[in-house]
Amino acid sequence: MGQMRLVVVGAGGRMGRALTRAVTETADAEIVAAVDREGAEVLGQDAGELAGVGSLGVKITDDPLTAFAKADGVLDFTAPKASLWFAELAAQARIVHVIGTTGWAEGEDAPLLAAARHARIVKSGNMSLGVNLLAALVRKAAAALDADFDIEVLEMHHKHKVDAPSGTALLLGEAAAKGRGIDLTAHSVRTRDGIMDPRTTGDIGFATLRGGSVIGEHTVILAGEGERIELTHRAGDRQLFARGAVKAALWGFDQKPGFYSMADVLGLDA
Ligand code: NAD
Repeated sequence: MGQMRLVVVGAGGRMGRALTRAVTETADAEIVAAVDREGAEVLGQDAGELAGVGSLGVKITDDPLTAFAKADGVLDFTAPKASLWFAELAAQARIVHVIGTTGWAEGEDAPLLAAARHARIVKSGNMSLGVNLLAALVRKAAAALDADFDIEVLEMHHKHKVDAPSGTALLLGEAAAKGRGIDLTAHSVRTRDGIMDPRTTGDIGFATLRGGSVIGEHTVILAGEGERIELTHRAGDRQLFARGAVKAALWGFDQKPGFYSMADVLGLDA
């Protein structure tokens, strides 16, 4: 392969611009198209100029079909409905689809499994090496400690984030549930307010903070009688997710059709 030809969808977004920068820093990849939604203010602008890396000669369009036809892969940090649509198009075009989008409702991402019969999909609520390593550690800790250790996942993000808990918090909750051998949906507590029953042993709780420009902070607390373990990851730069996504695309190029996670890309048992 020469350079892997990539499309950035949601090119006008915070992550879209970070993805454009990350591709331009990667010798093995190039941007061949950039897409955003119909009516978006950024349509017609040069993706590189918008991302602060100078003109790339790639204008942002609202036409993913034409974009995908000339690409080997798509980098997608947009919104669940958009990602489902892009998955159909990527499967038809037989290209790699890297999905960082979060905020999926229960079962909403099921059609992606069908698309993965033809496409190579890598989907993760967090594309950083650190968080995926943290997930592996959380799984180990949850497996080693019994259910007397209460597990709580605390996260903080910038004030613009629209979904809660974060995709990463859910990824970490899943890792804890896997370690315990339980189903997260049946054991997760997403909100607490007012007078309520005391905590049920074995539950996994989530707490969400929003404010300022925080890129992403996650702590998994394992609280026992008289002792507490806290495992924390702090993201200081959005570029680390974008670099992970480009790495996932390059990795996906050589894979068979299937549904993969970032743990697969990184060779981690999470
Ligand atoms: P953002 O709002 O800045 O950007 C989203 C972009 O997607 C916008 O430009 C929007 O116009 C575009 N978009 C929406 N619908 C579209 C459609 N139908 N077609 C084309 N473009 C469309 O948001 P953001 O901060 O960049 O985050 C985007 C997503 O990525 C969120 O779900 C966020 O939680 C997630 N995220 C994931 C990771 C990770 O590592 N997996 C890291 C950071 C953010």
